Amino acid sequence: VKLRGKNGVRLFSPELDAEWRGRQEIERHLRGALDRGEFRLHYQPQCGPGGEVVGAEALLRWTHPELGEVPPRRFVPVAEDLGLIGPLGEWVLREACRQAAAWRAGGLPLRVAVNVSPAQFAQADFPAQVRAALESAGLPGSALDLEITERLLVQDMARTAHQLALLGGWGVRISIDDFGTGHSALAYLLRLPISALKVDRGFVQELDEAGQDGVGAARVVQAVAGLAHNLGLTVVAEGVEEPWQRQRVLDLGCDYVQGYFLARPLPPAEFERWWRAHEAG
Ligand code: C2E
Ligand code: CA
Ligand code: CA
Ligand code: CA
Repeated sequence: VKLRGKNGVRLFSPELDAEWRGRQEIERHLRGALDRGEFRLHYQPQCGPGGEVVGAEALLRWTHPELGEVPPRRFVPVAEDLGLIGPLGEWVLREACRQAAAWRAGGLPLRVAVNVSPAQFAQADFPAQVRAALESAGLPGSALDLEITERLLVQDMARTAHQLALLGGWGVRISIDDFGTGHSALAYLLRLPISALKVDRGFVQELDEAGQDGVGAARVVQAVAGLAHNLGLTVVAEGVEEPWQRQRVLDLGCDYVQGYFLARPLPPAEFERWWRAHEAG
């Protein structure tokens, strides 16, 4: 793209150009991608302190014939801007519930976690969508965990409270994703039916192997865990890549871990193989 400044001066940046073309391409191909069946879900396990698998986070994957694998951090914001996140998010919800029900029927008693965009959550019929997804899969509400962000909670408190009350009434769990990176209006933790906090992986990755307590990120993780436990919430540490990090976040008070150390997000069949090997070993 050639940008023209006030005096007709050409402002050209190769990176900006590539970024802009990338976005144009994504926009062009994203419409219709759902109908063409180009999306899939991968699943990443969440484990307790004894290694037991308690849940799986569903993560969206898009493979386009020309663009190849496009990461969600590139296309999710575009889907939000184009107003496509509603139908896409509903597909994710239905597919994740279907998969979780199939796993439960096959002896994998997992809870499935689904990421929800603020724009998707803000739809008036969002709770109805959730209910329909649960019913059509035959999945109990307690087997579903919705991951939302702090942004949503400060944006429209009244509506959010109403939607969360409905969802909570069906046993659906609500987790706050990327906790500690957004607006920390902690009052909502008391007022809303939240089940868990997910400590942002940035904090986990800043932990120091030498393990001096009281240093930066360790203090944050410990404080978040303490706060959560005082309010009766559980704490998940994400982005755990090394065995020592796993031990460290558990020592700092986290209840569950998720990260490459356990497994990368996997296609359903591989997830199942991983699970059986993990349980056997
Ligand atoms: P998130 O919800 O915070 O998801 C965690 C991201 O961290 C995932 O990236 C996951 O692959 C990655 N991750 C997991 N363990 C590790 C680790 O040990 N180390 C590192 N470095 N990374 C790890 P992914 O799949 O690329 O997703 C990125 C973001 O895209 C997600 O962040 C979420 O905000 C969004 N997203 C993904 N799927 C969906 C979806 O179905 N709906 C919506 N609205 N957003 C989604
Ligand atoms: Ca998430
Ligand atoms: Ca996160
Ligand atoms: Ca995130």
